Amino acid sequence: MTVSLAALKQDDANARMAVLKEQVRGRLRSQVALANRCWFQVGGPADWLFIPEDAEDLERFLQLRPRELPLFVLGVGSNLLVRDGGIEGVVVRLGRGFAGMDVLPSTNDGQRHIKVGAAALDLNVAQFAREHGIGGLEFLSGIPGTIGGALFMNAGAYGREIKDVLVEAIALDPQGQRHRLTPEQLGFTYRHSSLPEGWIFTEAVLQGEPAAVDDIAARMHKIAEDRAAAQPIKARTGGSTFTNPPGHKAWQLVDAAGCRGLTIGGAQVSEKHANFLLNTGTATAAELEALGEEVRRRVKETSGIELQWEIKRIGRVHSSELSVQES
Ligand SMILES: Cc1cc2nc3c(=O)[nH]c(=O)nc-3n(C[C@H](O)[C@H](O)[C@H](O)COP(=O)(O)OP(=O)(O)OC[C@H]3O[C@@H](n4cnc5c(N)ncnc54)[C@H](O)[C@@H]3O)c2cc1C
Repeated sequence: MTVSLAALKQDDANARMAVLKEQVRGRLRSQVALANRCWFQVGGPADWLFIPEDAEDLERFLQLRPRELPLFVLGVGSNLLVRDGGIEGVVVRLGRGFAGMDVLPSTNDGQRHIKVGAAALDLNVAQFAREHGIGGLEFLSGIPGTIGGALFMNAGAYGREIKDVLVEAIALDPQGQRHRLTPEQLGFTYRHSSLPEGWIFTEAVLQGEPAAVDDIAARMHKIAEDRAAAQPIKARTGGSTFTNPPGHKAWQLVDAAGCRGLTIGGAQVSEKHANFLLNTGTATAAELEALGEEVRRRVKETSGIELQWEIKRIGRVHSSELSVQES
């Protein structure tokens, strides 16, 4: 019997992970299903899933972990397609210890600042701001992810993006060192930040301005109504599949290419919003990705425009593959 060097290294890394279980306070488990942690509800397991107790626990884990295992951080999977073969290495998921929210003392220029954990849901942050009479964060109420995911994606809606309200963010690098980052350092562009690979946002300070609670509530109510009318918000979806090409709306290009309602297996282009893909119940990640690629092909054919995926696709196509492809 021949045993490859790669397999031996993998065994060694896994043995060290088993030891690490005793050195961290959070939950570290192997072969953990991710489908139920992602909006599409498809995809294979994580080789390892770590849910740290708090920032100190995460720092320790990053310092001690086997460096050869790839690292991926998961929010609530609202912008993610995990492939059917699962994710190689370690998936870090921030839990309750990273979901805190605090109002900071008012600044001289009258702005109000809120410190939020990276696992706080955007909706909860918008509601917290409303309760404290802090306006300008209402747009977050319609985005179903976490603050960490919003920072990484520079999430936005209704003419505002997270970069417009960010004062500073804290992130850990893959070695567990803590960094304080300004919006300028994060190089935000449309649905993109330049956070280096393997870095993990742990908290952020956001700013808003004093506003009447009733006015904030009315704006959030309008956002909820508009969303329910225009998007399949209760479906198994990943939100906007493709970014809007300059000067175009992705959904209009998809529509013009005749793709609204198109299906492959259990995957479907939403009838309600042509830039949303749906898992109608039985879809695999492979079917969803194939459908997205078919839409791209048809849009290129009809308009000459190459749509770019907004949804992050991550993991192995098949469980027998060893390399992780992220795009
Ligand atoms: C119904 C629906 C509507 C949506 N509407 C909008 C919208 O209006 N505007 C918009 O911008 N998006 C929208 N989205 C997409 C999605 O909600 C956002 O991109 C969101 O910010 C993703 O957050 P998440 O926590 O789910 O991240 P995930 O989907 O889990 O991850 C997305 C990316 O962020 C990275 N990431 C997550 N957490 C961290 C962290 N702590 N540190 C570093 N990187 C991290 C992940 O590694 C991954 O690369 C919508 C999605 C759905 C399903």
